[in-house]
Amino acid sequence: MKKETISIVVACYNEEESLPLFYEAVTKVLESIKKINYEIIFVNDGSKDKTLKVIKDLHEKDKNIRYVSFSRNFGKEAAMLAGLEYAKGDYVALMDADLQDPPELIPKMFDILECDSDIDCVATRRVTRKGEPPIRSFFSRLFYKLINKMSKVLLVDGARDYRLMRRNVVNAILSLEEYNRFSKGLFSFVGFNTKWLEFENKERIAGETKWSFFSLFKYAIEGLVAFSTVPLTIAAIIGILFCLIAFIMIIVIIVKTLIFGDPTSGWPSMICIIFLVSGIQLFCLGIIGEYLSKTYLETKKRPIYIIKETDEN
Ligand code: UDP
Ligand code: MG
Repeated sequence: MKKETISIVVACYNEEESLPLFYEAVTKVLESIKKINYEIIFVNDGSKDKTLKVIKDLHEKDKNIRYVSFSRNFGKEAAMLAGLEYAKGDYVALMDADLQDPPELIPKMFDILECDSDIDCVATRRVTRKGEPPIRSFFSRLFYKLINKMSKVLLVDGARDYRLMRRNVVNAILSLEEYNRFSKGLFSFVGFNTKWLEFENKERIAGETKWSFFSLFKYAIEGLVAFSTVPLTIAAIIGILFCLIAFIMIIVIIVKTLIFGDPTSGWPSMICIIFLVSGIQLFCLGIIGEYLSKTYLETKKRPIYIIKETDEN
């Protein structure tokens, strides 16, 4: 019988220090699964350090290593997509390069898929957020609460991108051609039976995180806009509410003037109201703008990434 293949897709941005350690740890685990062949696909996302050289050296000495290198930094989502497109395996796993995704879980995930043909995908979530700044954890939790209220796709709190999928799941994800990719939502959108494994959070092995608070905030907004139109409804509801309030106030003022005459007063409160209402208008315009800008980018049909070189050329 032909051996099946597992592809491991790794997005790498400035990971020269972690990669050798990652390679070491992951190959050891993969070699231990005798039933399979494997390939590791490193996607160099326009790193500014020696990441590409490290990857090429690994490719030279180990033919199971393949790589794709971008012309510049396109972001982790683009890198994961490129890796999924390049992967040839019957099973494909996504992993971070910093060993925050424990490689020991791969055999477990593979066993589950092999033994239970009902399950199409084994995903992981971390149950702790140890080693993370508390404020980041707080906003992460808030984000998951919000998006799960506002969107039909279910996002699991603490879910990692780390997962092992069957070929059919990978093909489903690749069939989604949107430009603004929010993978956690896409995984949930395509459906299939997913089994969750849990693990404790680990600190990255070397190098540093690429996510600042602001970039995470932007990412969260992207997720919301990509998977929910509830903010637009909220804007409309605020509008209706304010119309109602204004209507009631007009009646109150007319009645008051008819009864008590018309002394000019209330200038400061007027200014406050103007500020409040115009603030809310701008806020709602901003919400609309967010959707419009996404539509704009989507209609341009620009490529999601540009490849400079791969192991094949
Ligand atoms: N990454 C990437 N492109 C980027 C930023 C990050 O390919 O623009 C990769 C990075 O090399 C790592 C993974 O995405 O393998 C996760 O990044 P990081 O560890 O910084 O994120 P965190 O674990 O802190 O969420
Ligand atoms: Mg990390």
